[in-house]
Amino acid sequence: MIRRTTVQLAAMCGAEMNEAAARRADAVICGVATDSRRPAEGRLFIPLSGERFDAHDYVGDAFAGGAAASLWQAGRPVPEALAGRPLLLVDDTLAALQRLAAAYRGQLPATVIGITGSNGKTSTKDMTASVLARRLRVHKTEGNLNNHIGLPLSILAMDENTEAAVLEMGMSGFGEIERLTRIARPDVAVITNIGDAHLLQLGSREGIAKAKLEIAAGLKEGGVLLINGDEPLLREGAKRAEGYGKWRLETFALGREDGWSAKLLAATAKESAFTIRPPEGPEWPGEFRVPVPGRHNVANALAAAAVGALLGLDPESIRQGLGAVKLSAMRLETTHAANGAVVLNDTYNASPASVKAMIAFVGELTGYRRKWLVLGDMLELGPDENRLHYETGAAANPDRIHAVLAVGERSKHTVRGAAERLGPERAIHFADKDALVRRLLAELAPDDLVLVKGSRGMRMEEVVHALVRG
Ligand code: ATP
Ligand code: MG
Repeated sequence: MIRRTTVQLAAMCGAEMNEAAARRADAVICGVATDSRRPAEGRLFIPLSGERFDAHDYVGDAFAGGAAASLWQAGRPVPEALAGRPLLLVDDTLAALQRLAAAYRGQLPATVIGITGSNGKTSTKDMTASVLARRLRVHKTEGNLNNHIGLPLSILAMDENTEAAVLEMGMSGFGEIERLTRIARPDVAVITNIGDAHLLQLGSREGIAKAKLEIAAGLKEGGVLLINGDEPLLREGAKRAEGYGKWRLETFALGREDGWSAKLLAATAKESAFTIRPPEGPEWPGEFRVPVPGRHNVANALAAAAVGALLGLDPESIRQGLGAVKLSAMRLETTHAANGAVVLNDTYNASPASVKAMIAFVGELTGYRRKWLVLGDMLELGPDENRLHYETGAAANPDRIHAVLAVGERSKHTVRGAAERLGPERAIHFADKDALVRRLLAELAPDDLVLVKGSRGMRMEEVVHALVRG
């Protein structure tokens, strides 16, 4: 984590030291803290204000917990209890946190990899870190800390001797990725894909592509922008993004002729095997495996392999790195219904792209008698939500999917789409989860498979729990 003297920190975040801080100007401070309930020992406390609280109220607690100094919004009266405490006065504590992270990044020799995209950011981040860790000292975003607060904190958590940092960048509107990339200054920027998440805020898929491509704004000169080659909007958008500076474009995709390419060899509910061909060919010898399910994870693994090669790793190290992948939050969990049927719990979240990816994935699985899709609404899709639900339902292939069962107002359109392909008996809408579970339990065979998925707000895990209870 960051290790600097008080006066250095003040300079890095553009702060003015109060008297107590100036007296300790040369004292070394290690790390930052934003939550006074977590250990702040020896750290710089950064009081951020949220919707319902202002952490300035907890600066006293942070000092009681051993904080070495704290940021403080200039002009705000300093309470009696904090007299004599070292404070660094700034215009805005959030902006100061971001300046501090940007300055720290600028002082570090590490190669930075920034990862954005509608889906697969965390998975690709974990895979990339696993690959790079075969040869380099790696730091990665912990969990999902990918926003305007999490990204700076991820950077400040980095050790001085880090060789490669893999950072996730999330967004929900225009300008957010640009802000993050200008802080992180990536050497390699990855866009996993574009989906339909945040359509509401961004208006169209073109808008989503444009917002993701903002990542090029912070790319280091001579860096690489690695995009999903299957997405025309990214390819076209990347040409326009050239205005952001001098970098090189590379693409990755399953089964394409150009760019980084992977060919799927086998897919089970636990892992996938595939081959990899670099843009200049020929195919790397041998097969590669990732111990996580889904075709979409092969695309994520391909991006990770490409980053590994861009940083100079050999195919053998990349093979080992992918084989050792452990995802931070394994979103797709496999459990069993009371009668033994396999239940794929992917209820963490859902968007049209991720649901279609899962429908394709389930479709490819073999060894199950019937495959059921249990789908809840996808939220925050904006004015096109009916069409997007319809299209998602229509992605169910009648030769591969037995039935689509759905709950939620919007999912009526999913069922309408599915019925076009499967017929009305195999595409059914339910008024509530209880009714759906009753029907499914009545028909489910022990050698069947069920995928359960929906947006977070739909709490589709309740269906999984009910199936497990039986
Ligand atoms: P968040 O926006 O919540 O941070 P994320 O982009 O980090 O999400 P992951 O956590 O890696 O994404 O994956 C979330 C879900 O997205 C997975 O469970 C899977 O269903 C789906 N997913 C992962 N990778 C892809 C991909 N390349 N294409 C489509 N869907 C994907
Ligand atoms: Mg994530």
